[in-house]
Amino acid sequence: MPIELQWEVSEEMPEGLESFLSEVADACTELEGVPGACFAVRVVDAEAIRELNRAMRGVDASTDVLSFPTLRYPAGTTAGNDPRRLRRAYDPYLGAVNLGDCALNIRRAREQAAELGHSVKRELGYLTAHSAFHLMGYDHMTEEDKRTMRAMEKRAMSRLRLWREPKGGIDVTNRELFDRACEAHKSSYAPYSNFHVGACILAEDGRTFLGCNFENASLGATICAERCAAGAAVVAGARRFAAIAIAADEAAWPCGICRQVLREFAVNLDMPVIVGPVGGDFTIKTLGELLPESFGPEDVLHHLAK
Ligand SMILES: [Zn+2]
Repeated sequence: MPIELQWEVSEEMPEGLESFLSEVADACTELEGVPGACFAVRVVDAEAIRELNRAMRGVDASTDVLSFPTLRYPAGTTAGNDPRRLRRAYDPYLGAVNLGDCALNIRRAREQAAELGHSVKRELGYLTAHSAFHLMGYDHMTEEDKRTMRAMEKRAMSRLRLWREPKGGIDVTNRELFDRACEAHKSSYAPYSNFHVGACILAEDGRTFLGCNFENASLGATICAERCAAGAAVVAGARRFAAIAIAADEAAWPCGICRQVLREFAVNLDMPVIVGPVGGDFTIKTLGELLPESFGPEDVLHHLAK
C-alpha cells in the first residue's frame, strides 16, 4: 500500500477509501518518476487540523490540508530530480521511501464536495493528490511554482478522472474498471495468437461496457478487445467514453487502429487508458499521450462546415 490511512474522525469512512487513495498516491508518484514511494494520510476534524497548524507552523487557523514532507527539497527541485537523495528517506519498517505525512480536514472536504457536486471520497482524493505533490517538493508560493504544481495536479487528475469541475463525477475507480477488464479477458477467443485481452469502457454517463478480442481463421478479420467494447458501448447509445481499462496476458497498449477508434468517442484527449496484466498492477496514460497530434471528428466536421 502506497499510503497508510488513519481515519481519526467520528463519521463513517467512505467505502473503499483506502484503495482509492492508494490509486491516487500511485498515480502521483508514478508521474513524478518515484513509483513505490509512500506517505501517511490522516483524516482529521477541523479542530485537530487547527491544532496541528498552530503547533507545527505557528498559524492559528483551520485549513483544508497540511503536508509534512520528510525531506527538504532545494529550491526549484522536486523528488524526481534526485533519486539518490530520495533514497535517504527510505524507511526500513515501511520497506519503501517515506515521503512524509499529511492531514486532511474532513469538514472542509465535505463542504468542498457539496459545492462541486461530487462525493467526499473524490474530494479526499483531490486533497491527497495535492498533498502528494507538496510531499514531493512542489509548492504554490510564486506564480511560476503554482503553474508547475497545477500542471502536475492536472495530469494526475486526468489519469484518475478526478475532474474537479462541478459536473458530478463518476465514482467507478480505475481499479474497479481494470477488474472488470480482467473479467472480460476470460471470454477472449484467441486460438491463433493465444494472446487473450479483455477491455472495459467507462461511458460518461457511468455505464460500463465489456469487450474481448476475437480472432478469425482469416486472421485479418480479427477484432481487438478495445473495439469490441467500443461496439458494445455504441450500440447501447453510449458515444462519449470517459476511460478504458485493458487487461491482457501481458500488459499491452492498444494497437493503432484501436487508438484511432477511441479517439472518435473519447470525451477528450485526457481520457485515461489503463493497462496491465490480468490480475496484476496497471499503468495509466492519457489518450493524448498515446496518440499525439491526432486527427478526430472535429477536423472533418470543421472542414465540412466551410
Ligand atoms: Zn487494436
